[in-house]
Amino acid sequence: MPDQTAPQELAARLLQGDRRALARAITLTESTRADHRDQADALLAEVLPQTGRSVRIGISGVPGVGKSTFIEAFGLHTIGQGHRVAVLAIDPTSQRTGGSILGDKTRMEELSRHPSAFIRPSPAGSTLGGVARRTREAMLLVEAAGFDVVIVETVGVGQSETAVADMVDLFLLLLPPAGGDELQGIKKGIVELADLIVVNKADGDLAAAARHAVAEYRHALAMLRPPQSAWRVPVLSCSALTGAGIDKVWDSIGRYRDTLAGEGGIERRRAEQARAWMWNEIKENLIAAFSADPAVRAELKLLEREVAEGATTPGLAAKRLLGLFRGQAGS
Ligand code: GDP
Repeated sequence: MPDQTAPQELAARLLQGDRRALARAITLTESTRADHRDQADALLAEVLPQTGRSVRIGISGVPGVGKSTFIEAFGLHTIGQGHRVAVLAIDPTSQRTGGSILGDKTRMEELSRHPSAFIRPSPAGSTLGGVARRTREAMLLVEAAGFDVVIVETVGVGQSETAVADMVDLFLLLLPPAGGDELQGIKKGIVELADLIVVNKADGDLAAAARHAVAEYRHALAMLRPPQSAWRVPVLSCSALTGAGIDKVWDSIGRYRDTLAGEGGIERRRAEQARAWMWNEIKENLIAAFSADPAVRAELKLLEREVAEGATTPGLAAKRLLGLFRGQAGS
């Protein structure tokens, strides 16, 4: 649990790259206690000017596609290029005590031991919104601590991809070396989010299948509109196991940044993300305040029942409850 260190002092140590201060700061943002929340907000405000100087990369793919093997190889490659890498994870199903399936340190052994890397498992949480918010805040904190490549990993199930795509500069989709029916099985919506597609396991017996898959995915992509107009989504292949092709993935990310820089793309994407994040905060805070309001609570069950029974309309019930919330009973 966070100690009583003042946010300013914690911020100062964090900005010097103190890993313990960084870990403590992230723990503080994950706390649900109101006083911790206030400290976390003060800390984030303090370090905000020192954030944003990283390449933010989202990585997704079905379990077994090789995400952790890839992140290990890719992370070590970027460290070799002089960068410092932070790996965060979003897994809404994770419960700290039950062990997270993502961001588990044993999954990226060499990277997790490297002094230029920082790996943090997914925050536990019951809602994707809550988990995503904490990961966004952790991203700002690792940036303030000097990590200039931030990887946010998520497993290829459901809505978490959108949450990740909404907080990164580039969304990388890792795919298996298979095409045809398996290609059909990959959700189209997730492919549409991708800024970069990488077919993994292009080695040994799977090399030919990987080549074939690259051709198929390229063809399938041609049918979809790329998410960024100036950027044509490349389909690359690599072997996370042997390291072949990992450098090409990093080069491609550099080209992406150069391509978008010309039109203020990344700044614009981040500005939109920050605005959307603010609105999410407003919605979540409003709903929390609404649900906790004594006048609302007094009527909520009754009105829910009336709506369920068809005795009143959802619109009228909502109006009545919002009136109570605003202290205008009867409006
Ligand atoms: P994750 O569940 O997506 O994180 O996948 P893992 O990184 O745990 O990898 C799942 C399995 O695929 C492991 O047995 C890895 O050794 C294997 N694997 C990962 N990358 C490659 C690769 O590039 N080539 C081959 N042949 N196997 C790989």
